[in-house]
Amino acid sequence: MSTNSTPNSKRFSNLPLNPALISNLEGLGYLEMTEIQAASIPVMLEQRDLIAQAKTGSGKTAAFGIGILSKLNPSYFATQGLVVCPTRELADQVSNELRRLARATPNVKILTLCGGSPMRPQIASLEHGAHIVVGTPGRLLDHIGRNSINLATVQTLVLDEADRMVDMGFFEDIVGIVAACSPRRQTLLFSATYPADMRNATSSFLRDPVEVKVESQH
Ligand code: ADP
Ligand code: MG
Repeated sequence: MSTNSTPNSKRFSNLPLNPALISNLEGLGYLEMTEIQAASIPVMLEQRDLIAQAKTGSGKTAAFGIGILSKLNPSYFATQGLVVCPTRELADQVSNELRRLARATPNVKILTLCGGSPMRPQIASLEHGAHIVVGTPGRLLDHIGRNSINLATVQTLVLDEADRMVDMGFFEDIVGIVAACSPRRQTLLFSATYPADMRNATSSFLRDPVEVKVESQH
């Protein structure tokens, strides 16, 4: 495991990203990268696995959103990105932010799969397909068990708020979700904290991960 320090430049335009994606970021008022973005996006663009630790409100969603979108192929209609979140509220927030980020990438379909919503419309939506799926662990595992979702095409797996998911008892569900994804995927773990027990528990999901940690808010 290696540690990555924050690069000097915080300009999105210095990253090897699609210019349309960069101008969309400017349109959203994202003029410079937050610290966790500056530290984590270059690592993601190198296709390395990542453990990113930073406080709430530091811009982690856009960090992994850019990671997913940077290699998403809209003309390949399969689930290429999967984001697992602890709660429905967070999954909705992540989906909204991903939709804003994806404005510059035509025809990207993002589907939210959470418990508390009826199963049948979700299954119908999955039959139509989605490029990015955002969901909560229990409902995702339910779809895996019913074979209504195919995660073998996932190239970017994000475990968002991983510490909260473990605290809420979702670890076994996450094991099942990880097992359903392609072994060739890139795995990104975002968390406010990364205690030793979580390090041990998640080490089998991650391949030689780069670890970045930002203490300040921005
Ligand atoms: P976290 O997941 O770390 O708690 P969020 O991803 O929810 O944080 O982001 C917090 C806020 O920061 C959001 O309102 C988001 O729109 C905003 N934000 C993210 N990146 C940037 C940026 N580069 N410049 C300005 N605002 C940003
Ligand atoms: Mg977040």
